[in-house]
Amino acid sequence: MYDVIVAGGGPTGSSAARFCAERGLNTLLIEEHSEFGRPVQCAGLLSNNAFSECRVSDKSVLNEVSGAKIISGLGSELFFDAEKTMAYVVDRSALDLEMAKNAADSGCDIRLKTSVIGYKNSEVIVSGINGKESIPCRMVIAADGPRCVFTRFLEMERAPVYLSGIQAEIPLDTQKNIVELHPYASPEFFGWVIPSGNKRARVGLCGEKNVYQNFMKFLSRFDSSCINLVSGTIPLGILPKTYGGRVLFCGDAGGFAKPTSGGGVYTGIKTALHASDIALKCCESNDFSDSSLKEYEKKWKSDIGRELSIGMALYKMRQNISDERIEKLCRCMNSPEIREDIIKYGDMDRPQKIIKKMLLKPCVAKSLGGMMGAEIRWLLLRSTGLK
Ligand SMILES: Cc1cc2nc3c(=O)[nH]c(=O)nc-3n(C[C@H](O)[C@H](O)[C@H](O)COP(=O)(O)OP(=O)(O)OC[C@H]3O[C@@H](n4cnc5c(N)ncnc54)[C@H](O)[C@@H]3O)c2cc1C
Repeated sequence: MYDVIVAGGGPTGSSAARFCAERGLNTLLIEEHSEFGRPVQCAGLLSNNAFSECRVSDKSVLNEVSGAKIISGLGSELFFDAEKTMAYVVDRSALDLEMAKNAADSGCDIRLKTSVIGYKNSEVIVSGINGKESIPCRMVIAADGPRCVFTRFLEMERAPVYLSGIQAEIPLDTQKNIVELHPYASPEFFGWVIPSGNKRARVGLCGEKNVYQNFMKFLSRFDSSCINLVSGTIPLGILPKTYGGRVLFCGDAGGFAKPTSGGGVYTGIKTALHASDIALKCCESNDFSDSSLKEYEKKWKSDIGRELSIGMALYKMRQNISDERIEKLCRCMNSPEIREDIIKYGDMDRPQKIIKKMLLKPCVAKSLGGMMGAEIRWLLLRSTGLK
């Protein structure tokens, strides 16, 4: 019998399988596709920290990024450049494949082209090349991404928000080291232009409504042919309960993507690490009760919980921020002092520090002010640790 079955072979699942096997647990990784990393559903922008959490070589790196430009769409731009590598643009299929190979090297078993279709009495029911089977295990790490099938099997609540994303890779001679953010392109989130090297860029956006129409309008600005299309879903908002019935929910399956950027690789690997620690504890003590699994929730909360709750509050605020307000913000933040703060304290994965810094700037609070007074107060207290 397996100690742990990991459902889903994305970055979260491969990391969880690797960490469990490295801890000496008899582990099986199940992936529904016939190969890891495809189809790609990602822009492939990873902060330095996120990339190093992947524990891979630099084979998947296509480009390095040192700064960003926020383009309001009404005339103003906010530009900052740290003049050193702050993030990597990667080939996600190559990254996922290397992460899965690392999991295999650590000793876990792998089943490809096998879908998890049920879960009953500690048996994972799969359908794959061997037909339908029940595989017994002591516990499960659910890392099957937005589909999150174990919430259905266990009748548990899912993430509150599902964003849709579309992206095209196009020939574009843009600044090689600068990512562009275009908030006007998507009223619920933002659009992006990510240079992927070789005079190409990934142009895309995420949103809740009219995503395809908004994307086509945004793409038409670049008047260029498309060489690759990517689409996908990002659940936002952590599940109300991330454990239960001998299952721990990790990565996108648990709603752990960052609501500020939609990025989920960093947080997914963090949850995989905590889940594997708890899996080891449960297997050693032979205790798979909810009170034992609950330790997982304590662990991720003390690591990334505050950052993600601040991110979710910002996501909700974003829904009420018009293009005019963004224009005002870009104008008022375009000072050497603020740009320096962004470079010094900005962190794509842990935005708490820079949010607090920015909210304490009178011009920022004023640009956001009025109707959002209560939200800003909450954010300030939360980012200062007082809430
Ligand atoms: C357009 C777009 C752009 C993005 N850009 C970025 C970015 O730049 N940076 C970033 O960090 N994040 C980005 N993300 C988010 C990122 O792709 C996800 O957060 C990340 O892939 C989550 O990893 P995961 O392993 O939890 O889930 P996934 O990568 O979704 O992996 C889940 C795996 O489970 C498998 N699976 C699903 N159901 C089953 C089943 N029933 N049985 C067996 N296997 C199953 C799937 O085939 C898949 O391989 C983007 C997302 C989108 C949609």
